[in-house]
Amino acid sequence: METVPTPLRCFSESHAAEKFTDDGVETVTSVEQKKVERSIREVISVYKQIQSLPQPTLLRDQHYQYLKKGLRHLSDAYECLDASRPWLCYWILHSLELLEEPVPVAIASDVCQFLARCQSPTGGFAGGPSQQAHLAPTYAAVNALCIIGTKEAYSIINREKLLAFLFSVKQPDGSFVMHVGGEVDVRSAYCAASVASLTNIMTPSLFQDTPTWIVSCQNWEGGLGGVPGLEAHGGYTFCGTAAMVILGKEFMLDLKALLRWVTSRQMRFEGGFQGRCNKLVDGCYSFWQAGLLPLLHRALFKEGESTLSLEKWMFEQQALQEYILLCCQNPAGGLLDKPGKSRDFYHTCYCLSGLSVAQHFGNMDLHHQLVIGREENRLAPSHPVYNICPEKVARAIQHFHPLPVPEPEDGSSVSNASADQS
Ligand SMILES: [Zn+2]
Repeated sequence: METVPTPLRCFSESHAAEKFTDDGVETVTSVEQKKVERSIREVISVYKQIQSLPQPTLLRDQHYQYLKKGLRHLSDAYECLDASRPWLCYWILHSLELLEEPVPVAIASDVCQFLARCQSPTGGFAGGPSQQAHLAPTYAAVNALCIIGTKEAYSIINREKLLAFLFSVKQPDGSFVMHVGGEVDVRSAYCAASVASLTNIMTPSLFQDTPTWIVSCQNWEGGLGGVPGLEAHGGYTFCGTAAMVILGKEFMLDLKALLRWVTSRQMRFEGGFQGRCNKLVDGCYSFWQAGLLPLLHRALFKEGESTLSLEKWMFEQQALQEYILLCCQNPAGGLLDKPGKSRDFYHTCYCLSGLSVAQHFGNMDLHHQLVIGREENRLAPSHPVYNICPEKVARAIQHFHPLPVPEPEDGSSVSNASADQS
């Protein structure tokens, strides 16, 4: 355990020197950037005035109350997420496990039964009961059920049908569409690889050509776009890289270019991450971007890179923690994008996930913590690939891996059909 250096980075004299300079060329985005920096400067100076000790605090209890309420009741504002309901289960359950707050048995069972109603008769999970199966809520539902981690939770997943659903969205070029008749992007490859590996339904043909397709999404910037040729973006880069790790093909990516791109996305003044070049800081990229560093560290280690730290990730862990703790907490609970924005469960989940990445280096064998502020700020570690707690991954693997991999219902005809289309 490392002692916390004081004063905080954002209290230091040199911090102001990290401010953005427009080199005398004012643009729409340079004005926005300066506005955000001003609001952050204000937050820091108010904090300085009211706190005698620079010990930023994670508002554990407030976040817990906010999350607990969300499991039972959502406000009208969530109506637009009616097709993302398994996501709400996952965001809340994962936030609670990071805070090490147990979910009462009865509520966990209710969540299981709700997710069972979201499972499509043709396999995979939909955004809500009676909706169409889609890879994103399938990922969220499987993660949520693995977090619950009971026999009841595991038994809800129909693995045979899930495999059939994955084959139904697989494309001849190795990519996946998000749902039958839907769009292709690299999120789908991650969602498919994540659920298939957790539930042990990987077959040799399921991910044929997928790594080659994912690599084609890495562009000249070094990050990955949603599809080949698009701008590099944090969310897609995480999904593509994590999928490559699951498939054991991360070496096919240009890892050094990826490292350069992602480390350049941490904002010098704010300490948080932006999602794309020339965009503003946003709390959720605390996970989508910072979460890439554990994946890259491991991938470079496997490649024999000898200069890697044994204590720290390759980003400013302290600066990110300061941004999340000082700028992304709603005093009434829940976390957010940046000062002035409202809280929501998505940002709560990914700010906390990013905070956990910034606090914990390595895994059980080689674990090093850096917790800014009070000792109680420490969150549980998260699995860098699945973003659920590592023991829940281990338990899911223990449950599903002794089970036989289902025979694809029409696996051979699927690959023939693919061949015909190409
Ligand atoms: Zn965001």
